[in-house]
Amino acid sequence: MEAPLFPLLSISRHRMGIDGRGVTTLVAGAGCPLQCRWCINRRLLERNEAEPVTARELYKRVQGDDLYYRATGGGITFGGGEALLQAAFFAHFRALCGDGWRLCAETSLAVSRELVETAAESIDEFIVDCKDMDEAVYHSYTGGDEKIMEDNLRFLLKRVGADRVVVRVPRIPEYNTAESQKRSAARLKDLGVTRLDLFDYVRPKE
Ligand code: SF4
Repeated sequence: MEAPLFPLLSISRHRMGIDGRGVTTLVAGAGCPLQCRWCINRRLLERNEAEPVTARELYKRVQGDDLYYRATGGGITFGGGEALLQAAFFAHFRALCGDGWRLCAETSLAVSRELVETAAESIDEFIVDCKDMDEAVYHSYTGGDEKIMEDNLRFLLKRVGADRVVVRVPRIPEYNTAESQKRSAARLKDLGVTRLDLFDYVRPKE
């Protein structure tokens, strides 16, 4: 079977404390099933300027920071866009970088169960942006179905354990409130989430 290509949008090096433990490199890929109103990457995603790269090509580009990753417990964070659209790529990348690098994926979980299962085999930590746990708010902000995210989250917690899942809960200007943000956090705790990150979206300039 042909090795999958990663639709590379950008590489951002030497990040600390933003998207995973230790020193990380954020590797952003194209494509996303959602249509979030305040998406800061929307224009980039729509321009479709991604460069398809193999796992080996990507590994060569990020290999220079190997010592930083190993010394700090960091590694690569796959983002986007929706990182799990590239789930089949992760195992190929893992085969090259070995277990010494920590691999994280930023995801909305608005993807098929199959992609979540595939990613769970290679990803150390999932950073889930849940948007909002209220179905109506979720749909009006993303155009998507909250139940898909919630079902995938239940599955993921069971499959990899709560320690490997961080759920980010945003306050979304014009769409939810600090109160509904707290309600979402409470529901997530009921689902078994132990690592929560409440934060505010910054509305991009239009
Ligand atoms: S999930 Fe992320 S990348 Fe996708 S539309 Fe929403 S904010 Fe943008």
